[in-house]
Amino acid sequence: MTDCIFCRIARGEIPTNKVAESADAFAFRDVNPQAPVHVLVIPKTHVASFAQAEPALVGAVMHLAAEVARLEGVEETGYRTVLNTGAHAGQTVHHLHAHVLGGRDFHWPPG
Ligand code: 5GP
Ligand code: ZN
Repeated sequence: MTDCIFCRIARGEIPTNKVAESADAFAFRDVNPQAPVHVLVIPKTHVASFAQAEPALVGAVMHLAAEVARLEGVEETGYRTVLNTGAHAGQTVHHLHAHVLGGRDFHWPPG
């Protein structure tokens, strides 16, 4: 999708704060961080949401998310991975992305 903002980020057309990259996924800092560590992990190919994603692509995204947690130093203390799917869950960008949040305590149930 040429006009999708996360596709453009994955292609390097929009500058971002890159954290990590694999063959199929790309990780960069959220522009509006909700925790000291807030990184988004996206597939390099366009998929609208978790609901449409092939298993291998979900695996590639979540594998890089775990790597991001290690790189950001939150693996030991714990971190949260979030996939908002659809309007009621608050998905605002319709290109699959996993949030990796860490560096503070999180509550349950989530808001
Ligand atoms: P959602 O609400 O769809 O789960 O999360 C979308 C996330 O993307 C939000 O946390 C928002 O701050 C982030 N975001 C939206 N546009 C951009 C952008 O252009 N650059 C970056 N780095 N983050 C973005
Ligand atoms: Zn896209």
